[in-house]
Amino acid sequence: MGDKPNFPDAETIKKTDLAHHWHPFMDTADLGMDDLRLITSAKGSHIWDSNGNKVLDGMAGLWCVNVGYGRDEISDAAAAQMKELPYYNTFFKSTHAPVAALAEKIASITPGDLNRIFFNTSGSDSNDTVLRIARTYWAAKGKPEKTVMITRKNAYHGSTFAGVALGGMSAMHDQGGPHIPDIVQIDQPYWFDEGGDMDPEEFGLMRARALEEEIDRLGEDRVAAFMAEPIQGAGGVIIPSESYWPEIKRICKERDILLIADEVICGFGRTGEWFGSIHYDIEPDMISMAKGLSSAYLPIGAVAFSEARAQEMFATAGEFVHGYTYSGHPACCAAALKNIEIIEREDLITRTREHTAPLFAEKLATLADHPIVGEVRTRGLLAAIELVPEKPSRKRFDNYGEVGALCRDISFKNGLVMRAVRDSMVMSPPLIITDDELEELVTKVRKTLDETWEQVS
Ligand SMILES: *Cc1c(COP(=O)(O)O)cnc(C)c1O
Repeated sequence: MGDKPNFPDAETIKKTDLAHHWHPFMDTADLGMDDLRLITSAKGSHIWDSNGNKVLDGMAGLWCVNVGYGRDEISDAAAAQMKELPYYNTFFKSTHAPVAALAEKIASITPGDLNRIFFNTSGSDSNDTVLRIARTYWAAKGKPEKTVMITRKNAYHGSTFAGVALGGMSAMHDQGGPHIPDIVQIDQPYWFDEGGDMDPEEFGLMRARALEEEIDRLGEDRVAAFMAEPIQGAGGVIIPSESYWPEIKRICKERDILLIADEVICGFGRTGEWFGSIHYDIEPDMISMAKGLSSAYLPIGAVAFSEARAQEMFATAGEFVHGYTYSGHPACCAAALKNIEIIEREDLITRTREHTAPLFAEKLATLADHPIVGEVRTRGLLAAIELVPEKPSRKRFDNYGEVGALCRDISFKNGLVMRAVRDSMVMSPPLIITDDELEELVTKVRKTLDETWEQVS
């Protein structure tokens, strides 16, 4: 094995970090020595920090370490590939073994005829690719005026300019504009916050029909696609009612628009299927993926497009003038291939669907009667716990978001990573989480909710 990197002591590392490192999604001016956590190692479902704390990672990093930490097989596969061929591009008539193998593998696990695979380096740039394909496809079909992308408020599609514009996060829209034109957002199927007195199924239908209304408003000849996450992740694990996706599917089939699933979180077993599109029977024309594709051991993303539609596009579009230096990077492809091999060998899809997800749901359901809990919802290994001051009302705490942040900090102190989205506590543990670790998780969540309730009431 190679030498372990030799870094200075924790105190020095933190000082260096604060002096030079610009953290993503942080108010860097606000970050101090006491806030900064130095993560030193990880194994299975746990991470360790420089104070020696062992913390259960209820988020699998950022929804991505699906096969858990410490899989030497993946590191070894990437290292072996780097020794053989560390890099070559896939532009000008070149290819290499890992990229061809991974394209075939992805084609075999995606639903329908999504057999044409374009490689990217992240979820955000996968969604840039999505936007470029959608508009180029319609132009190639002789309908260049079909440029409008319909997405949803409070969706997360990444942090590049395309990601921000496609996404529906208002804080992101408010910064750095103007944004890419011809992208519009419709309302989300978030019953807990926005459903009022409506029955959840009725509400889901209404929010799906907002798509039809938007297409009518814009004119079908202007709309390129509707794009959405099967379950909104960063928006707060928003699980649509059962009525939602069938109606969306109907509308997209009746209208001449593409249906695109952003599966950056829902892909690779998160819902107990290879893709959330399979779980909800969405039948998309395009899927974007990243995160669980390599379980984040190396950065890689991909877009899978319908072979039939790709052929239509290739017939007239000529060269697709798009690509990244690292599209199909050999080491990243090798890591992704090994990751998928592990998911298959350990049958993590079936295990999640038939064992882990039901147990996760059952254990978290025991928290529903906690005084601070307005709702517990789970799907696959995704969960949200809504914090409210007064049940059964779905009214929120004053200073929406502060109790969530407090709860998140208490959770870490208690040895569990939970993330706060406003006052929704969200979780997305590694698929390999054991029964004992699920018990550890729910015990720590309960303790955290108790302490949070004590502080706010
Ligand atoms: C994380 C995420 C992205 C962006 O992926 P990056 O790899 O961070 O660029 C896009 N879409 C969804 C649904 C995500 O959760």
